Amino acid sequence: MSASQLNTIRECPRRWWYYATGAEEREMDNRYADCGSAVHEAIEKHIGGEHPDHGALTADLDDEMYDRYKRCYEKYLAIRCFLSLDHAEAEKELDCQVNGIRLMGRLDVVDGDTVIDWKTGKPSEGERYQAAVYQHLMRENGAVAPRVLFIYLQTGEVSAAPEYPVEYVPTIVEKALATIRSEEYPATGVGCHWCRYAHICGVSR
Ligand code: SF4
Repeated sequence: MSASQLNTIRECPRRWWYYATGAEEREMDNRYADCGSAVHEAIEKHIGGEHPDHGALTADLDDEMYDRYKRCYEKYLAIRCFLSLDHAEAEKELDCQVNGIRLMGRLDVVDGDTVIDWKTGKPSEGERYQAAVYQHLMRENGAVAPRVLFIYLQTGEVSAAPEYPVEYVPTIVEKALATIRSEEYPATGVGCHWCRYAHICGVSR
């Protein structure tokens, strides 16, 4: 289970159930996600010592998304000067067991005990879970004092997540498991605008 799935169960158990049972997804505007993926790929290459092929990475983006990509990548380059990233690993996959389930995450950058998460959008409530899960994964994989930095590439804002107690993630995992065991998946109406299942959910707001 990932931080994103934990957050989905918290926001709307029905949405998670649709996802888990493979319900048909509606067509969505993926332009922002595609742009975000291209930015992440460019940064991964740059951190790995390669020159990103911007032409290939942005080939499918429209003009608006190309401008967004350019803005984000330039902001990354400006911020990168202030980050040592001596032992940085990009797109690092970590996992661990929590209450009998496998918790996993793919972290944008891990440098020692520091995790950096590049954001091409605005801050969101779900980042709380993301930070807590990343800290937990880092601790379980040997980090002593993990810290998570969110860097917003539209604005250049850097935000350090608070330190979550060791029992925080096991508690939210247990809550999620309790929902799944109950086999009751209420539709809460939270996040409907971005819900891929709004076309089959009668409670959509
Ligand atoms: S449309 Fe809204 S209420 Fe229905 S599953 Fe999606 S998020 Fe939940």
